[in-house]
Amino acid sequence: MKEWTEWKEKDCTRLLRESAEEMDVSLSEKQLAQFEAYAALLVEWNEKMNLTTITDPVEIVQKHFLDSISGASFLEDMRDEEEETLSLIDVGTGAGFPGIPLKIVCPWIELTLLDALQKRIGFLEEVVKELELEEVTCVHGRAEDLAHEEAFREQYDIACSRAVATLPALLEYCAGYVRVGGLFLAYKGPSLMEELTQAQGAMKKLHMEMIMIHQEISLENEHLLAVFEKTAETSLQYPRKQSKIKNDPL
Ligand code: SAM
Repeated sequence: MKEWTEWKEKDCTRLLRESAEEMDVSLSEKQLAQFEAYAALLVEWNEKMNLTTITDPVEIVQKHFLDSISGASFLEDMRDEEEETLSLIDVGTGAGFPGIPLKIVCPWIELTLLDALQKRIGFLEEVVKELELEEVTCVHGRAEDLAHEEAFREQYDIACSRAVATLPALLEYCAGYVRVGGLFLAYKGPSLMEELTQAQGAMKKLHMEMIMIHQEISLENEHLLAVFEKTAETSLQYPRKQSKIKNDPL
């Protein structure tokens, strides 16, 4: 597995292991090596294409990896039995956040990584190969289009998304992917409360009920995760075209 000198110099394996433990996530040697390899690939590919503005290994751990895995407990809670798998789609995954860190800590999930930029899909495929991740599908397309296709419609136990759109638009992008009774994890920051006020109409029309706000207090920057449960089927009119979603929020 790929190694990275700067990661080692800054003792990032220890930082990641100890910080994850504070979040009740215990990481094996293999998982820690996968995170190091992922960070190394991220910085290497970032020289050729725009993937992230964060290139310091300590910041990659704090702002990308720990932030992403803060949703892992919801995956664990939803899994009834040891052998069971769960399907998860990360909408607008970019360089793989939060989907890939969630896959590393919960290797039993079936993961779909969706992004509108083809170049990012090439990077994700390389990460999947290098980290030897199984049951991962990388898909190029727009969230509002693929949500209408049978292969994706209401096929997922969980959808998640970070830094893609404001909550009303994000709910419309993501609701169609989730099965009734499934969850949507919206990774948000301090703007969450204001966005929730704006998203009341979308929540009602899309049958997405907010069941909790999770705050990861061990993370330095303010991080809030809004968890929604889908209570009924999504009407086929949603998601609408991009221009409607943007100009006429639900
Ligand atoms: N989720 C990643 C993260 O937190 O680092 C990436 C965030 S980046 C700011 C937003 C990503 O969402 C971009 O990679 C962009 O291509 C993708 N995106 C935006 N709108 C989208 C849409 N309608 N369908 C699919 N992907 C979309």
